[in-house]
Amino acid sequence: MRTQQDTIAAIATPAGSGGVGIIRISGPAATSIATQLSGLKTLRPRYAHYAAFKNADQQTIDSGLLLYFAGPASFTGEDVIELQGHGGHVVMNLLLKEVLAHGARLARPGEFSERAFHNEKLDLVQAEAIADVISSGSEQAVLAAQRSLQGAFSAHINHILQLLIETRVWVESAIDFPEEEIDFLSDQHLRDQLSRLNQTLRDTLRKTQTGVVLAQGISIAIIGKPNAGKSSLLNCLTEADTAIISEVAGTTRDVVKEDVVIAGIPVRLIDTAGIHDTDNPIEQQGIDRALKMKDQADVVLHVMDGQSPVKDQLIDDDKYINIINKNDMLHPENQKLKQALQVSAKNQQGIDQVREAIAAHVNMGSLNENTFTARQRHIEQLKLTQFHIDQAEQQLAHNQGELSAEDLRLAQQALNEITGDFSSDDLLGEIFSSFCIGK
Ligand code: GDP
Repeated sequence: MRTQQDTIAAIATPAGSGGVGIIRISGPAATSIATQLSGLKTLRPRYAHYAAFKNADQQTIDSGLLLYFAGPASFTGEDVIELQGHGGHVVMNLLLKEVLAHGARLARPGEFSERAFHNEKLDLVQAEAIADVISSGSEQAVLAAQRSLQGAFSAHINHILQLLIETRVWVESAIDFPEEEIDFLSDQHLRDQLSRLNQTLRDTLRKTQTGVVLAQGISIAIIGKPNAGKSSLLNCLTEADTAIISEVAGTTRDVVKEDVVIAGIPVRLIDTAGIHDTDNPIEQQGIDRALKMKDQADVVLHVMDGQSPVKDQLIDDDKYINIINKNDMLHPENQKLKQALQVSAKNQQGIDQVREAIAAHVNMGSLNENTFTARQRHIEQLKLTQFHIDQAEQQLAHNQGELSAEDLRLAQQALNEITGDFSSDDLLGEIFSSFCIGK
């Protein structure tokens, strides 16, 4: 637990007009600032006081509710005050100015959550989940982020941690009795323990990858020759008339982006200018951008015009989903092509199969009530943990107990960085600075 000397404050509601605006104050001076502003003599914890908030000249700036959460039973673990006034940009700023004049300083982005973390109200994964709830791009992502916030992902990490600690204890105590000649890997208990550890780690890594897709969403580029039906397919997937559909080849001169939800996954769909040879410099610019988008996308939908044979156009690449469009006018030779989905964008046929193929492509077939959200850095730490466990296993196979103990120690360190039990200030700074102000 870190004791903070300074008191922080911020407007917690978004800029702009709304019914209610909230200012949050946290720290040792929170209650004195609140009593000075409101004129209230005593503050009752968890009670909605109605008060007028006044400036130094005793003019009423705003009136509304004042809530007091006495530390440590508060979000940050410190004394917290919430002032709920009218949700106008100017009035909120006026009120904030008054709070700052009474001794608080402006909070940095994510600083309330950072204090909650330092005061052990939540671990790092849970703190990150708060930001994920706010930025969720689909209903499934919200529910999954809530699960992370409630500790579902942390529980997985803690389970691995427990198995890892048990393994370390076993190996280290074996090293402490060097007079006994030990053949580490012939020990059934250790072998079982390592296999449990590896299995749990693999399982968690898979779930974490799903969690990252859900939290961060994916980008999908739609490519194909002019008039293949890319814009029509985009419209089917967005169920809106976003892109211009035209019979004139080369209509989509620029990149059209749409945020949609496909099978619960937040998706950024990118329709690209038809990729083909052209002398037109403006069209060429669009094509260059399309090529770049295609490289950056997580999944590429490759649309082909099924009116003529497309066998030679099929792209064999993990990132690509081959789609033969215009199956209402399908060339007979295309019928037997099993490597591609057959759809009719015009008649909205086969679009659900496209959605399913996208979900399968990013391993999202099994979204359920246990899915949680996660971040790329969690995957990297889990892989690092796996690397050190693999190393440790190899050392054990060669009866190198000391070296293996060191790798198991590093595995634990990598794991601890996920929940924040072992994290540098730089990492914490990077994580919390991406939060909203007032969170
Ligand atoms: P893009 O250039 O690849 O974006 O192609 P568009 O989506 O603009 O479509 C080109 C033309 O093909 C338009 O006239 C569409 O109406 C037509 N088209 C698109 N999908 C289908 C389909 O499934 N069947 C048929 N018959 N025509 C289609």
